[in-house]
Amino acid sequence: MRESERSTYSVLFEPVNIGPVTAPNRFYQVPHCTGMGYRFPRTEAKLRGMKAEGGWGVVSTQETEIHASSDLTPANEGRLWDERDIPALRLMTEAVHEHGSLAAIQLVHNGLHSTNRYSREIPIAPSAAIVDQNDPVQAREMSVSDINTFKQWHRDAALRAKSAGFDIVYVYAGHDMSLLQHFLLQRHNHRSDQYGGSFTNRLRLFKEVIAETRDAVGDTCAVAVRLAVDELLGEEGLQHDGEARDIIEALAEEPDLWDVNLSDWSNDSQTSRFSEEGYQERYTSFVKSVTTKPVVGVGRYTSPDTMLRLVKSGHLDFIGAARPSIADPFLPKKIEEGRVEDIRECIGCNICITGDNTNVPMRCTQNPAVGEEWRRDWHPEYIRKLKAPEDYLVIGGGPSGLEAARALVQRGAQVILAEASEQWGGRVTLESQLPGLAVWSRVRDWRLHQLQQQANAQLYLQSPLTAEDVLSYQIPNVVLATGSSWRRDGVGRANRRPIAQLVPERVLTPDDLMKQGVDAIKHEGPVAVFDDDRFYLASVLAEQLVIAGYDVIYVTPSPIAAAWTEQTLEQERIQKRLIDLNVKLLLSHNVASMSDDSLSVSCTYTGRVTELSVATLVLVTSRTSNDTLWQDLSAKQEHWKAAGINRVDRIGDCYSPGLIATAVQAGFAYAQNVDATEAPLVRREDISLL
Ligand code: ADP
Ligand code: SF4
Repeated sequence: MRESERSTYSVLFEPVNIGPVTAPNRFYQVPHCTGMGYRFPRTEAKLRGMKAEGGWGVVSTQETEIHASSDLTPANEGRLWDERDIPALRLMTEAVHEHGSLAAIQLVHNGLHSTNRYSREIPIAPSAAIVDQNDPVQAREMSVSDINTFKQWHRDAALRAKSAGFDIVYVYAGHDMSLLQHFLLQRHNHRSDQYGGSFTNRLRLFKEVIAETRDAVGDTCAVAVRLAVDELLGEEGLQHDGEARDIIEALAEEPDLWDVNLSDWSNDSQTSRFSEEGYQERYTSFVKSVTTKPVVGVGRYTSPDTMLRLVKSGHLDFIGAARPSIADPFLPKKIEEGRVEDIRECIGCNICITGDNTNVPMRCTQNPAVGEEWRRDWHPEYIRKLKAPEDYLVIGGGPSGLEAARALVQRGAQVILAEASEQWGGRVTLESQLPGLAVWSRVRDWRLHQLQQQANAQLYLQSPLTAEDVLSYQIPNVVLATGSSWRRDGVGRANRRPIAQLVPERVLTPDDLMKQGVDAIKHEGPVAVFDDDRFYLASVLAEQLVIAGYDVIYVTPSPIAAAWTEQTLEQERIQKRLIDLNVKLLLSHNVASMSDDSLSVSCTYTGRVTELSVATLVLVTSRTSNDTLWQDLSAKQEHWKAAGINRVDRIGDCYSPGLIATAVQAGFAYAQNVDATEAPLVRREDISLL
């Protein structure tokens, strides 16, 4: 069966020529940010090398600034301002070449997207314009002499990229973040000289830079072009059936490869809440019909059958991936080895993107080893065997318990996993039943599947354990992963102490709604959802309530809905969805008090109070750990020895409530470190340790 699987997907493992270089297969990790970049080059190199080890035939950098006038500080992007940046980038090409893959670099000048906070250079643009960040900075219009200078910068950067060992050099016009794209776009380019106005004029610089790059490095390096084929802005932006198509037709055979996607980043990296696998297909499907050059495209592809269809139908030559390669760097190897059921599929949550957006190395909900490959020597697939395998009792089958059990089993331990409820997955199972979050169940499913394949794992549902139970089992290592519960008292960011006047029988928590559905609502009338959590959940619950027919008022102390989802690129979509669903938005308001039929909310700026007609209040504020079992066991610590217990640990939300990614990582970290004789030394990259 495995042999036949291998041959089924053999087309995905054909080598493909890209100009002067040859990719060993069709798996192509397109440029993506990591939050590492120039500031954490060893961390970056190890991460990229891991993908090559896992079978990605092409592995790209993130956008790599070519000049100090394209300075995205404090973001940790790639940097190739001058020769001094070459050694750091060479770490990456060497790590990729070690596994026979090609290394690609996405050169960028960010034009009016850069604020140059560190370099203090004045940003440049086709036409004078205010930058697209909130900074009070304007970009100046480039003269023709500036344009010639820019072309030289790009050429020099391409030469530096070649000497750093890159096989593929990008000319980048995407995400509304690139000077070259700014020149293409009518809304940014208001020039009247040979670089503005007509389509041919707006295309000129892009065409010249492609030719320059080929001239500079094309003898040994492939020249790839990344172009946004649609900006989802209608006539205001590039459209796949408009000028984007004209661009590709005009330049069809100029580059060695077309990498096509949506712009801006929030459209390119849509979450599973808002789009399905393959969401870019309708925009990119035309490209192969207008060029003979290989084409790569993305769409959160994790299904080998979909990948096969894309290649066989002549839609794409390469399966492009950013997030699926983060969630599973070994995705290609697993397909090649006929282990498709072992693929750890991306859930489309964009936690990875929050790393870049908050200027730190990224993490991943599905792959706890991401960002830790260099720093902690963690590998997403291999883990040392325990020197002396012992028995473990893991209590709680949510993300952290499942991951701890899975990794302990992989290390060779005997593991009993006990879960109180009738289902595995904890909060992931509950949340995945809410609108738009179904795919999140992959966090549970992958781990459960891995555990079910192993003889050394015993899995028990409907097993709510007490301290007495635990003491009676004589299992030396006990891990509590008992999760957390949403608070009923309103304590959160805006209210550090319980909200004084609540009507308890009219207050619900997300747990009530997730466990009982809208049956939890006992009173007719409008429902207010108070979002002091400021991530995704309150907005999802509001959606659930609207679908069930309730009038919903969304109240948040923040000036925008679901504020932290700016980091996952979802904020605008969420606010739009709430508005489209006729949810009444009361931004910058806190809960003041409540009566049987009304809710008083106060403006966070003025304190002015508004009375709302509300029958039920859903508090989405913060959580408390489910630590009763921990407290009970701690109270009986003198009995541990007689009960054969060496250690009891808490992990995940039971230790401190956080992201699902944090809980998964806690489970993995527990298994990694459980036999460490001393606290593991985490390598620090960016600080000189004297
Ligand atoms: P985390 O994100 O840290 O994994 P979750 O809340 O998702 O936390 O999962 C915790 C799981 O632990 C839930 O499925 C819950 O039913 C289970 N659980 C809580 N207390 C006990 C207990 N005493 N015995 C067994 N399982 C428990
Ligand atoms: Fe996918 Fe989420 Fe991991 Fe990003 S963090 S790769 S979106 S699972």
